[in-house]
Amino acid sequence: MSDFRNGTKCVQAGYRPGNGEPRQIPIVQSTTFKYDTSEDMGKLFDLEASGYFYTRLQNPTNDHVAAKIADLEGGTAGMLTSSGQAANFFALFNICETGSHIVSSSSIYGGTFNLIAVTMKKMGIDVTFVSPDCTREELDAAFQDNTRAVFGETIANPALTVLDIEKFAQAAHDHGVPFIIDNTFPTPVNCRPIEWGADIVTHSTTKYMDGHGVAVGGAIVDSGKFDWMAHADKFPGLTTPDDSYHGIVYAEKFGLEGAFITKATAQLMRDFGCIQSPQNAFYLNLGLESLHVRMPKHVENGQAVAEFLQSQSKVKKVSYPGLPSDPYFEIAKKYLPNGGCGVVSCELEGGRAAAEAFMKKLKLAAIETHVADARTCCLNPATSSHRQLTDEQLEAAGIPAGLIRISCGLEDKEDLIADIEQALG
Ligand SMILES: *Cc1c(COP(=O)(O)O)cnc(C)c1O
Repeated sequence: MSDFRNGTKCVQAGYRPGNGEPRQIPIVQSTTFKYDTSEDMGKLFDLEASGYFYTRLQNPTNDHVAAKIADLEGGTAGMLTSSGQAANFFALFNICETGSHIVSSSSIYGGTFNLIAVTMKKMGIDVTFVSPDCTREELDAAFQDNTRAVFGETIANPALTVLDIEKFAQAAHDHGVPFIIDNTFPTPVNCRPIEWGADIVTHSTTKYMDGHGVAVGGAIVDSGKFDWMAHADKFPGLTTPDDSYHGIVYAEKFGLEGAFITKATAQLMRDFGCIQSPQNAFYLNLGLESLHVRMPKHVENGQAVAEFLQSQSKVKKVSYPGLPSDPYFEIAKKYLPNGGCGVVSCELEGGRAAAEAFMKKLKLAAIETHVADARTCCLNPATSSHRQLTDEQLEAAGIPAGLIRISCGLEDKEDLIADIEQALG
């Protein structure tokens, strides 16, 4: 549905029922699929035909929803994963192996930081973190001969830094590797990183895409633009024969549009099985159907709460890219002209203790390890999601110990502000 606008795609892309077929995406609640002959099934195992044989690898419900997200991002292929963590791991591990190296923005989600800095490191995959605000020279200096990907987040969770997508994409391309971007916070309603040069887009669909706190999930979208064959020596997994599929070469057989996602499905889903359940994919799609209606309201509430917090003497600092005083205001105007998201962070006078007292008094905003939900929630990263980081790492990631992240939901902004006012008082 690439001729339509994103709002129309939110509602209708990915699934176009035929005559007499269900209007809503059916939940294919089946682990397996039936075939008339072994030959028919053999073609699927050889990747000679497309179709379904086992829900650990692929399921029709998921594929409809993944196609919608791919269409929203302007990509050529997509897949759903069991979580955002699985999406980022798959996106990186699909092209990295022991001995590889990643260049990553240091301002990223705590779980992803841990994945890259600790768990992937144990697999022999190295990383160099760079500031999201680094110069082009500093960025270039981070690359090594074994660099295989550049990674960052459009709007970082929870630091709310906004990435210069073009700068990171150009550096990646000049060094012959793809730029992978986690676009969870703005969603394709507010930013489409592929239009700015990103090659692979990932999501924690658990956040705004679901938007109702119902289903954990992730997604990967390939732009279909990165030319693996032009850098064949760097990406042997895509450009040399796969012995586990009778020697097919993904980049040759599935082309620019399909190689990355086909390999991730055929190898990584087969071996790791981090697939989203079809039931969760169905819930995710219900969220997607209203994503374009909800995002502007999250932005409106985020902007109003950020402006209110900024006017309060007990608030030391407010981060929200929609505030003219925010260091990312100008760059956000470029990449996020309709606003970014509903997440605001603030640091209260009085540090960690003041933050805890404030959060306890809030009535509408619940303390949750969650963001991007219809219901407003808040969190102190230093004592929860980022507690594995040292104070130095917290500082480097732009998350001081007294920082509170407030995820503005879809309530009336006057009520949210009144609640914050009484909690500050
Ligand atoms: C939450 C989040 C993740 C991890 O996603 P899960 O669905 O919780 O596994 C990754 N990236 C960002 C930006 C997130 O906000």
